[in-house]
Amino acid sequence: MLVDSHCHLDFPELADRFDAILENMAANDVSRALCVCVTLPDFPRVLALAERDARLHASVGVHPDSVDTVEPDVETLVGLAAHPKIVAIGETGLDYYREPADDEALRRRLRETQQQRFRVHIRAARATGKPLIVHTRSASADTIRILREEGADQCGGVLHCFTEDWETARAGLDLGLHVSFSGIVTFRNAEPLRQVAAKVPIDRLLVETDSPYLAPVPHRGRTNEPAFVRHVAERVAELKALPLTELADRTTENYFTLFKILQ
Ligand SMILES: [Zn+2]
Repeated sequence: MLVDSHCHLDFPELADRFDAILENMAANDVSRALCVCVTLPDFPRVLALAERDARLHASVGVHPDSVDTVEPDVETLVGLAAHPKIVAIGETGLDYYREPADDEALRRRLRETQQQRFRVHIRAARATGKPLIVHTRSASADTIRILREEGADQCGGVLHCFTEDWETARAGLDLGLHVSFSGIVTFRNAEPLRQVAAKVPIDRLLVETDSPYLAPVPHRGRTNEPAFVRHVAERVAELKALPLTELADRTTENYFTLFKILQ
């Protein structure tokens, strides 16, 4: 049994294919998927998807790259997270990858917004006891610093779609976080990331698609979907020198434990 710990079934590429997506999951022994929210206006649609099928759960949060959107506060996140289908806070975090290179003032303002929003999510996670889904890209040092400052070890969570170095993974693990790998781990140029994946302890490891993006080899370049998490798991199993069945069972167990979902 496999699970997809992070997908976006509400995005337009996938929204019209709900039944086919669930059929493909079943055909590939993918028994659960977590529908991750990226803006508050999207939240009702994300929750509605999760309510349609027992195999789906959802999160509530605002992605660091979401600009000109409704800014979340702790109270709002805590209120929305009270629904039993909501098992995590996020995705949240920091992403400095796409920031404007030539406008220092704007860059500073964007970073401040992301950091404040990130702190709000960590406080909401602590208040609800639900784990964080953390997105971090080109912002490792600030991500780890803020997780520490806000006491993220109290709520736990996952560094999702992990692409950073071992030092960052190690710092996250030290805070009690899980680390999740996406289809990127199957890409030809991802050898450094594969070395990181090989080192993450099996009891902290998750696999995900981040669909509709980042389809793993052999589907690279096409629309991704939860069924393809199988290819991610196959590659990670090789790296951990485990049979696929064991990697699948362990990552599934981690999913149920981290998100406190009853089997
Ligand atoms: Zn995502």
